[in-house]
Amino acid sequence: MKISSDFGVFFRFGDRDLSRFWAKVSVRGPGECWEWTAAKFRKGYGSFYCLGFGRGKVHGAHRVSWAIANERVPRRQVLHTCDNKVCVNPSHLYEGTHADNMRDARERGTVSRSARKLTDVDVSLIRYCRQLGFSVRKLAVYFPVSRSSISRICTGVSYPHVDGPVVPAWGSGRSANFT
Ligand SMILES: [Zn+2]
Repeated sequence: MKISSDFGVFFRFGDRDLSRFWAKVSVRGPGECWEWTAAKFRKGYGSFYCLGFGRGKVHGAHRVSWAIANERVPRRQVLHTCDNKVCVNPSHLYEGTHADNMRDARERGTVSRSARKLTDVDVSLIRYCRQLGFSVRKLAVYFPVSRSSISRICTGVSYPHVDGPVVPAWGSGRSANFT
């Protein structure tokens, strides 16, 4: 595989590094997670020591994988679509910002601002408010959960055991009143 000079200089990446890199990866099917089997950073991401030129340097394994696949150095953070920090499957990696990362984590419910904080009474209240015409955006301000959590509550996808008017995903609380 050809390594662009931009990539080689930034990562101090040599020919030997490419084979060393893939030797540390448990490569599976195209849609599966390819887990890093070697050293990890304290935060849980794989770490890779590039021998490259001179003294070498340690990099996040997922960043190196993204860079190999895209033939350039990532300008922003490299994020996972699979939420698996040790995964280095290039098809599970994308370039984004910290804000994207936080939003994605929130939508997957891995950050404290999750629907788990709500009581059953809150959930009923959200559904009644939605039926009265409160927007999902407003409700996400009043209750400590994301807009996607509010939508899931109002469509009955989450908290199916709780009472309250549920509207299907294709209709709004308001239009339900006109039918
Ligand atoms: Zn993955």
